[in-house]
Amino acid sequence: MGITTINPATGETLKTFAELTNEQIETKLQLAAAVFKTQRQASFADRARSMTRAAEILENEKQQFGKLMTIEMGKPIKAAIGEAEKCAWVCRYYAENAERHLADEIVQTNAKQSYVRFQPLGPVLAVMPWNFPFWQVFRFAAPALMAGNVGLLKHASNVPQCALAIEDIFRRAGFPEGAFQTLLIGSKKVEDILNDPRVVAATLTGSEPAGSSVASICGKQIKKTVLELGGSDPFIVMPSANLAEAVTTAVKARTINNGQSCIAAKRFIVAAEIYDQFERRFVDQMKSLIIGDPLEEKTDIGPLATPQIVSDLEEQVKKAVASGGRVLTGGTRINRPGNFYEPTVIVDLDPAAPVSCEEMFGPVATLFRVNNIDEAVNLANATPFGLGAAAWTNNAEEQRRFIDEIEAGSVFINGMVASDPRLPFGGVKHSGYGRELAEFGIREFVNIKTVSISE
Ligand code: NAP
Repeated sequence: MGITTINPATGETLKTFAELTNEQIETKLQLAAAVFKTQRQASFADRARSMTRAAEILENEKQQFGKLMTIEMGKPIKAAIGEAEKCAWVCRYYAENAERHLADEIVQTNAKQSYVRFQPLGPVLAVMPWNFPFWQVFRFAAPALMAGNVGLLKHASNVPQCALAIEDIFRRAGFPEGAFQTLLIGSKKVEDILNDPRVVAATLTGSEPAGSSVASICGKQIKKTVLELGGSDPFIVMPSANLAEAVTTAVKARTINNGQSCIAAKRFIVAAEIYDQFERRFVDQMKSLIIGDPLEEKTDIGPLATPQIVSDLEEQVKKAVASGGRVLTGGTRINRPGNFYEPTVIVDLDPAAPVSCEEMFGPVATLFRVNNIDEAVNLANATPFGLGAAAWTNNAEEQRRFIDEIEAGSVFINGMVASDPRLPFGGVKHSGYGRELAEFGIREFVNIKTVSISE
């Protein structure tokens, strides 16, 4: 495929980029190592000034950035503009809070004085996916740069213009040349970069195979990694829930970003008492979504990012039908240019079939009927993933059990799983390890140095 912008709504190739040569990569790594020496000494106030300016650029130019995201990966324009705004939020959040998150922590011991100091590590490689082409990068970059690290971005090969725009935002914001660099490279070049001693750590958001590969290379090199991988999030609805609100949120949670979100609700687990009502209303609302040109404000569902994602989804739906699944709406690609797939609802799927707990990366929902909370918890946990979970109930004891017993990085009660700069974000099991955002995120790529001073 190369490093190329292909409009997923039309299939048209808009721009192709040459991959960096080894010499160009070497120049960028030298610059990253050199600039770290100054960045690590810069004050929080200096870094915060530039980070706040980055937020202003994002806010002032959110329309252009939104359009760029939509053209490269197909998300509806309103959501794309919202993504630029959310990036401004994370920049401001860390501009305002990084110094507090990383302040020395005094600990009383037998020494005259002892404390913990947090120091930056150096150049960190971020391998990022296309689905939230700005947000995924900013939620790494804002804390990393505020901590005094230096960022190197290997973005997904289908969003090169977003990658270059982000580099440009940090440059214009006043960060020194080289504090944040985009490397236009394919995934084959990642190994050499991870093996380079100047790159001290890595973070990857993406699929399990990519995460496992990056982590094993870094493991050999004894380098820290953070992995944010896939999910097959459950969305549980119990009899005491506000059904109307649960259904509307369920549809939104499944179809956000055209269904291509790691924390999209993917498996809907509904109590038998209210199942029939839930199913009817859910199918009606999935049918009423407006599919179309993602540049139009009224569009709910645009194209999937690549033709490969459509083919993968078609295969999964075929497997689901072969495992007893019944398609109540959708179930096919849409016959028009671009990578469009119908919003789809599948019921009666055998929960033991492997496809039941796979991640479906598109607007395909699977519905399951359960008789009680034990069945709900068991089914929620019957997946190798553990990213997020939503549970709808107004019963306090049920809420307590879902919070306690669901194996996931987050549990949202009566709401939809979403990231927020103030809260940690990440998964357990095959959804990865480490945390982004909040205080936990900024402390991933620092040396937690123990200092002890005796008489
Ligand atoms: P992907 O194929 O793993 O790609 C993600 C990034 O990894 C891209 O930059 C890709 O580069 C690179 N890459 C792929 N294979 C690699 C390898 N062997 N070594 C090094 N780098 C490699 O993932 P995707 O299909 O684009 O993204 C969807 C996945 O990401 C889903 O599973 C989704 O759930 C997950 N995701 C997780 C989160 C989270 O926060 N947990 C957020 C968003 C998405 P190329 O483009 O050049 O191949």
